Amino acid sequence: MSTMKAAVVESFGKDLTVKDLPIPEPGPGQALVKLISTGVCHTDLHARDGDWPVQPSPPFIPGHEGVGIVEKVGDGVTEVSVGQMVGNAWLSGACGTCEYCRTGWETLCENQINGGYAVDGSFGQYMLVDAKFAVIIPEGADPYAVGPVLCAGVTVYKGLKQTEVRPGQWVVISGIGGLGHIAVQYAVAMGMRVVAVDVADDKLALAQEHGAEVLVNASVTEPAPEILEKTGGAHGVLVTAVHPKAFGQAIHMTRRGGIIVFNGLPAGDFPAPIFDIVLKGLTIRGSIVGTRQDMVEALDFYSRGFIHPTYTKRPLSEVNAVFDEMQHGKISGRVVLDYSAS
Ligand code: NAD
Ligand code: ZN
Ligand code: ZN
Repeated sequence: MSTMKAAVVESFGKDLTVKDLPIPEPGPGQALVKLISTGVCHTDLHARDGDWPVQPSPPFIPGHEGVGIVEKVGDGVTEVSVGQMVGNAWLSGACGTCEYCRTGWETLCENQINGGYAVDGSFGQYMLVDAKFAVIIPEGADPYAVGPVLCAGVTVYKGLKQTEVRPGQWVVISGIGGLGHIAVQYAVAMGMRVVAVDVADDKLALAQEHGAEVLVNASVTEPAPEILEKTGGAHGVLVTAVHPKAFGQAIHMTRRGGIIVFNGLPAGDFPAPIFDIVLKGLTIRGSIVGTRQDMVEALDFYSRGFIHPTYTKRPLSEVNAVFDEMQHGKISGRVVLDYSAS
């Protein structure tokens, strides 16, 4: 077989086209991966819609939670070998020499390359990866369950570290979707006490299953006063929600000195009360995915049995229906595309 099926964004805001494309050839430093599965991240939907100031250039293949087997390697590849299970990631390349790369902040590299955005990703039967940035999947991992760790997992793992919440302290996870339901699990594994906020009761039930102690439905209750009452104010907040409203609300959920970390990336902005931020000594931080080292650590939590993404398998042919469900908040946990399905 010299062609593969892939889902292609041909123009922003339109359904993806599932079509036959040539299987790419690995160049120097690259590996060709035959995919088993890929998670579907809300970022893929933002990419399809061209939501962000820096846009990808159609046609492109989204997807950055792909897991598969190395089928072929290009010249000079030493990091991965044929037959090995690897994945792709949002951070699919970085320059390695700039100030950010040199200081352990390759996620801030201005010359980084993003998987399923600047280069074709995992919504196809095959993908190319830069061997230096390929994710090495730990021995014994379930290729379907581990996919969501590659973006959702590493992102919230890093984001939670950025909240500086200590064991025994309260963290709010706002937004219990693909990212948020995994964030609850990392937070619990790190010894944090978890408040879950979402606008749907089924999402909150999922958070409770994964160990959240306090549940707040923001479509029914103003979340901040309730959180202040129940916890005395959280020590940190991680916002993974896809509505800007959640970002403004987050600022009011902490006790004094709290750290509010933003992972979610909806288009738009939110009101930021200067007086409260100054007087309460609040910190508001953005956090974008994680470094390759964060990935190793995030996967280690998975391997040790602390992280169990909730997922549903779907065939590639249903990718547009999956996006539609995601847009309407109908997905529980993550959808993973299953390439063994027809
Ligand atoms: P998702 O669609 O699976 O989940 C979003 C959740 O937000 C849903 O549970 C939804 O009910 C909830 N929500 C909507 N409005 C809300 C509100 N007002 N308050 C609280 N919750 C609300 O999406 P996902 O895949 O988890 O991604 C979430 C966001 O994070 C996206 O914007 C995505 O692009 C972004 N993201 C960022 C990074 C990063 O590195 N910073 C990495 C991956 C994804
Ligand atoms: Zn993602
Ligand atoms: Zn760099």
